Amino acid sequence: MSLVVLKFGGTSVRDAQAMQQVARIARTAGASWDNVVVVTSAMGKSPTDAIKVTDSLLIASRTAAEGDSETFHRVRRELADKHQAAIDGVITNPDERQRISQEVEQLLSGFEMLCASVRVLGEITPRALDAISGLGERMAARILAAALRNNGIAAQAVDATEIIITNDYYQSAAPLMDATREKTRARLLPLLAAGIVPVVTGFIGATASGVPTTLGRGGSDYSASLIGAALSADEVHNYTDVDGVMTADPRIVPDARTIKVLTGQEMSELAFFGAQVLHPMTIAPLLESGIPLRVKNSFNPQHPGTLIIHDAARSEGAVKAVTVIDQVSLVTVAGRGMKGVPGIAGRTFMAVAHTNTSVLMISQASAEQSICFVIPRAAATKVLHELEHEFNRELGHQEIDRIGVMEDEAIVTAVGKAIAETPGVSGRVCTALGAQGINIHAIAQGSSECGISLIVGSKDSREAVRAIHALTSA
Ligand code: ADP
Ligand code: ASP
Ligand code: MG
Repeated sequence: MSLVVLKFGGTSVRDAQAMQQVARIARTAGASWDNVVVVTSAMGKSPTDAIKVTDSLLIASRTAAEGDSETFHRVRRELADKHQAAIDGVITNPDERQRISQEVEQLLSGFEMLCASVRVLGEITPRALDAISGLGERMAARILAAALRNNGIAAQAVDATEIIITNDYYQSAAPLMDATREKTRARLLPLLAAGIVPVVTGFIGATASGVPTTLGRGGSDYSASLIGAALSADEVHNYTDVDGVMTADPRIVPDARTIKVLTGQEMSELAFFGAQVLHPMTIAPLLESGIPLRVKNSFNPQHPGTLIIHDAARSEGAVKAVTVIDQVSLVTVAGRGMKGVPGIAGRTFMAVAHTNTSVLMISQASAEQSICFVIPRAAATKVLHELEHEFNRELGHQEIDRIGVMEDEAIVTAVGKAIAETPGVSGRVCTALGAQGINIHAIAQGSSECGISLIVGSKDSREAVRAIHALTSA
């Protein structure tokens, strides 16, 4: 029995019209596959909205913690209107319409109650943030399942709190795969056997004791691949608002092109280094089980999109794509006295770890006389403090001359499996930046050897992306 998981991102379910299109895609998939599972994000921003649903929920909960009750009441009204308009647009049966409206209404009153408690407490915990920010997916799954039923497809909404079991690292919870596999199969296989399409909430999960969690922003992609792996799906199709994975973010490079085939490793590198199109963890569960992933456009489903497979041919040149992470800082620990002194690197990274900051890139230069690494800009001040504290003695004795921070930096990464194997690619990348007068502050070749990352000033980041993009072959 063949099985496909179809994941729809926020834009793909942003309003009634988009949901109708999802129903058409699900029906077409039903003609080629024995079993179809749908995973949905919260409704995204339609042309008349200021922001997407998940962002509204987060703003409401944060302002509630600051004592503001107006914002969350307003958000509740706006979300009620947006979801009701979708319900009215996709459900024709009056009873069904009323039933789904009531379910959404119940979720929204839960939202209001949670925000009211947050306001009374005057603070918001990561646990409460997860309970609130996951409500968008719960509303969307109910409406989308009804939209499918309205189009003659037997469908049922399923909350992933029942099937994706995670640890309690709120806001970025890690799935516990054995429990997830067991729960997912127990809940979804009987539905599939009965000819029902499960419409599962992306983004959310729950701890073993049932407390709601989220997989991190953009996590619906990850949900779909976890479910695909748990069910041993034949393929996972990730529907978004562009024609697949492109040679660069089309918002930065308007002439970016769709990449036909990528290896899982290349995709991981792209996602980890900033390509928003897929959550960085999406590939991992699929690589392990050898399940291919297609990235497609729900507004242009005829386009073949991008195929991501374990062992792709290297047909599209050394530099396949370029990506950027903005708002990072470059920290340098330097000093002549460091040379040959054991343990400096270890202590540096332990100090960073104490601040709960993850290091995005490391490079060591000048024969052990300096270590530099990149962290999110928001963490720069606390990391600097911690390092000064850790190396107080060495700074006093001038064994370490300098702990410096360049705050407004960006990581620009050229991705392609053949980069490491093709002589001269790093040189061409650096020359391309040099030709634009862009200074490179640090360089690292990824350990996976399928990318080269350069640190440049934030002000130069878009120009750097465009300069490297010119090296991708058409
Ligand atoms: P969804 O809501 O469907 O998950 P996202 O907004 O999370 O969609 O991701 C899709 C967006 O990612 C695209 O609209 C595009 O602007 C952006 N993006 C960034 N880098 C790339 C890239 N290399 N290829 C395609 N899209 C990219
Ligand atoms: N709705 C969630 C977010 O905005 C998850 C997702 O879109 O993938 O982060
Ligand atoms: Mg996304």
